[in-house]
Amino acid sequence: MSETPRHEVIVIGGGQAGLAAGYFLRRAGADFVILDERQQGGGAWQHMWPSLRLFSPAPHNSLPGWPMPPQPGAEFPTVDHAVEYLREYERRYELPVRRPVRVDGVRRTNGEFLVDTDAGPWSAKGLVSATGTWRAPYVPAYPGMAGFTGTQWHTSSYPGPEPFRRQRVLVVGGGNSAAQILAELSTVADTTWVTRRAPRFMPDEVDGRVLFDVATRRLSGAANGVSELGDIVMVDSVREARERGVLHALPMFDGLTRRGAAWAGGTEREFDSVVWCTGFRPALRQLRPLGLRGRQGRIPTEGTRSVEEPRLHLLGYGEWTGAASATLIGVGRTARTAVAELTAELDGSPEQRS
Ligand code: FAD
Repeated sequence: MSETPRHEVIVIGGGQAGLAAGYFLRRAGADFVILDERQQGGGAWQHMWPSLRLFSPAPHNSLPGWPMPPQPGAEFPTVDHAVEYLREYERRYELPVRRPVRVDGVRRTNGEFLVDTDAGPWSAKGLVSATGTWRAPYVPAYPGMAGFTGTQWHTSSYPGPEPFRRQRVLVVGGGNSAAQILAELSTVADTTWVTRRAPRFMPDEVDGRVLFDVATRRLSGAANGVSELGDIVMVDSVREARERGVLHALPMFDGLTRRGAAWAGGTEREFDSVVWCTGFRPALRQLRPLGLRGRQGRIPTEGTRSVEEPRLHLLGYGEWTGAASATLIGVGRTARTAVAELTAELDGSPEQRS
């Protein structure tokens, strides 16, 4: 029988968050491995729809160490460019990513973590969970969903506009995904947009750079949040949709019917498809055996460190694991702190918060 591979740290997930953790683990001289279930690098970006644009220019989407190169002819990079950047980043820093290796569960054994995978068990003293949210799409429950005879999609399964040509499509959600998908679909289909509250568009000159600056000021206590700026970045396609007059949202429906949706007051409309752009939850199923789960699928943390399990850090899932940590530009800052805390914990020395 072969021996269980053993490392000081295992990082689960080789998307941008896992790579940023790897960069700092490498610099700290740690013995680590990154396990990723996908065949190829690039994390969730490789599954996003081709027309999606990042909401800030290339240098503002950089991981630690090596800035994202500009994309010729595109101020706001495409998803392909983001994927290429991540793959090159992985090669450049020779990060030890093993793929495809799917982590099915994590248990405690003899004071270490035993990581069960489809390629056998691995063990480690410390763990960084960087599994993102793509695997856990969230769709809210509404009456009538099961009986709707049209097709239902989620941001994570959106295939681009072709299958929707000449359809009547209902787009649900008030964020950037909904606005960009609506903008694209409205060029080939008859679209209706619904949001829980009126959509909040950012001024045209505001992009992801400003969001990151606000997150930074919030960290230093100089700003409360981004709410004053709005939610939706006016990338070219969304601006153009506004010019065509299709960027108007209705209030949420009460429920779906067999052939469409029904609103309070008796209004009904028929649709061929519904696209739920209603977000994601952290993909943390593999950590369930540790018994750490809090509300909404989260694990209680202080910064990135699990409150109950100090040798476990959660990286890149959203604001609750660090300001702007679910963005390319923001995850590096959080990864640096997480690795400093984790390596200090494993060394038994006091934390080095940077
Ligand atoms: P992922 O990219 O999902 O990587 C997680 C990795 O973990 C994957 O490779 C997966 O294979 C692996 N994994 C998961 N579970 C397991 C398991 N059990 N075992 C082994 N491996 C596993 N951010 C920006 O900065 N700019 C933008 O413009 C922007 N636009 C966005 C648009 C959309 C539509 C979405 C959804 C997000 C956008 N984001 C943007 C946010 C963010 O940058 C991405 O969500 C990013 O992919 C998150 O990176 P991650 O490394 O945390 O997760």
